Amino acid sequence: MNTSHQTWIDRIQSLEVSKPIRIMNVCGGHERRISLSGMRSVLPEKVEIIPGPGCPVCVCPEETLHQAIRIGLDHDVTVLTFGDMLYVPTNAPKNEPRSLHQARIAGADIRPIASPQEAVSVARAEQDKYVVFLVAGFETTMAPIAAMLMEGIPDNLLLLLAARLTQPAVRMLLSTGQAAFDALIAPGHVATIMGPEEWKFVVNDHNMPAAIAGFTSGGLLAAIYSVLRQTIEHKPFLDNCYTQLVRPRGNALARRWLNETMNIVPAAWRGIGIIPDSGYNLRATWQHHDARHIFPAEDGSRRRAGQMPPGCDCSEVLLGKLYPDQCRLYGKACLPRNPVGPCMVSEEGACRIWWNSGRRSSGCSE
Ligand code: SF4
Repeated sequence: MNTSHQTWIDRIQSLEVSKPIRIMNVCGGHERRISLSGMRSVLPEKVEIIPGPGCPVCVCPEETLHQAIRIGLDHDVTVLTFGDMLYVPTNAPKNEPRSLHQARIAGADIRPIASPQEAVSVARAEQDKYVVFLVAGFETTMAPIAAMLMEGIPDNLLLLLAARLTQPAVRMLLSTGQAAFDALIAPGHVATIMGPEEWKFVVNDHNMPAAIAGFTSGGLLAAIYSVLRQTIEHKPFLDNCYTQLVRPRGNALARRWLNETMNIVPAAWRGIGIIPDSGYNLRATWQHHDARHIFPAEDGSRRRAGQMPPGCDCSEVLLGKLYPDQCRLYGKACLPRNPVGPCMVSEEGACRIWWNSGRRSSGCSE
């Protein structure tokens, strides 16, 4: 860490932390930076940083994944998705493909892509059939999707959305009393688009310290220092520690395009359940690009639909109730090359991040 990081560390370590303080982050990018930098090891003993519901791939409904697999296997279509999604396991019977990757091996035309523009290019090149783009993402992923729609997309490009908003999940955790944290670090990229105001409820409604953080170690340390100081001084406020990009009311054009292309609806989060006002779906004017409209799901009564795989504690990890290495399967039955749950698949999943950061032992001691 460089000098400015050391300055933040010195400030944090000079604070008198007399009681346990649990800080939640809700962004895979934040968790990755915190874990890979070893940031937890320089914090006061009583301070914990908890990964929360910050991985859109992890909360993508199991039934949506299953639907994408069936569309790929049962129809003459091309299915596209961002790379991580290929390996997320469903709860399908063992004699059926359990992931998009296995469906591809079984003959479905399923391909990973890196950007919405790539989806448009594939659809333009294959105009004789539907191209179904499975999108699991938070606001930062959905803003480019909205821009893509506003710019116009080929008639044969369909979207299968598993799009989620971050702040309703935190709102649910706080309002239902499930919150196992004392302060929040809010995601800077989401606030860049949606505006910092979205996170004021944490302070106003719950009297909880909050800070919006960017993605450098220095930015995260500044946010950690802020919420610790707020906690110690009993003066919570929403601190914008990412002023380089986060402006009042966010990105007006991105918000307008999101609003013009999508509705905000109650949505299922895998392993968690329905969270009010936490999902995007396409507005009626875009229905002809909605994969669910063209290929309705056939079986809503599948056993264990929507749940995590047996033995997997991803639900508790996503809610900040367990650390990844407190799952009995972590590093044993569940490894990146053989993931049991989605949190070990995605680069934004807490289990994958902890494993990649070298965390091998069971039980969190930090
Ligand atoms: Fe799920 Fe694997 Fe993480 Fe356990 S270690 S919570 S099985 S992803």
